[in-house]
Amino acid sequence: MNTRRFGLACGVLALAVFLAPGAWAWADSTGTPGQERNAAMEEILDQAQWLGHDGFLFRAGGKVVVFDPFRVKTSEPADLILISHGHHDHCSPEDVAKFVGKDTVVVATADCTAKLAGLGADVRPIAPGESLTVGGIAVKAIPAYNTDKAFHPRANGWVGFVADLGGVSVYHAGDTDLIPEMDGLAPDIALLPVSGTYVMTWEQAVEAARRIQPKVAVPMHYGGIVGTGKDAENFEKALRGEVRVRVYK
Ligand SMILES: [Zn+2]
Ligand SMILES: [Zn+2]
Repeated sequence: MNTRRFGLACGVLALAVFLAPGAWAWADSTGTPGQERNAAMEEILDQAQWLGHDGFLFRAGGKVVVFDPFRVKTSEPADLILISHGHHDHCSPEDVAKFVGKDTVVVATADCTAKLAGLGADVRPIAPGESLTVGGIAVKAIPAYNTDKAFHPRANGWVGFVADLGGVSVYHAGDTDLIPEMDGLAPDIALLPVSGTYVMTWEQAVEAARRIQPKVAVPMHYGGIVGTGKDAENFEKALRGEVRVRVYK
């Protein structure tokens, strides 16, 4: 490569780095942002609770965020509750009620919002591709649908979520197969269904984790309606040495 070409290549590279939103934010921070972000992620992972099936509770920066609570035994006021779609094992009014406090916002797909109307929470609809921010938590709805079965048609407008918890991105995939919309998400934490039948099998979820490249993958959608701990175990074993997996009990 001659000098002029090298100069041009450097210029293009510098521009690409500048334009990449993550890189720019890091360059804008002080100290060792990569390490701080990793420490924040570890804290979020340690404080997270699996509520069973697709249900998770996250704590970050004094906020409580709950995904798809179902047959939950605990109760606590949440700041934000995210519901991926209207199926009864995801949109469960009696379980959502356990996390509704006086300032709780619930974000759900349109087929679920009507079922939650009587809970006294601020319920807001969301559709694939839409974004909103609640109490400083930015949320984006990612499409979620089946590609080789009919339970979750794309046309239903059901979703997964990417939530930004103080700079740590958490992707809850919802009920989905491996879909192209997962490409390039690269979240810090990816919660992926592994049960098969209505969603990805654990083998397909392994493929999804390879494509998504999260820092940590967490199996879900087992132990309740369909799928067992064996699916989670197989998922973890298959990704050893490739993608870090955390299995919640
Ligand atoms: Zn479903
Ligand atoms: Zn489901």
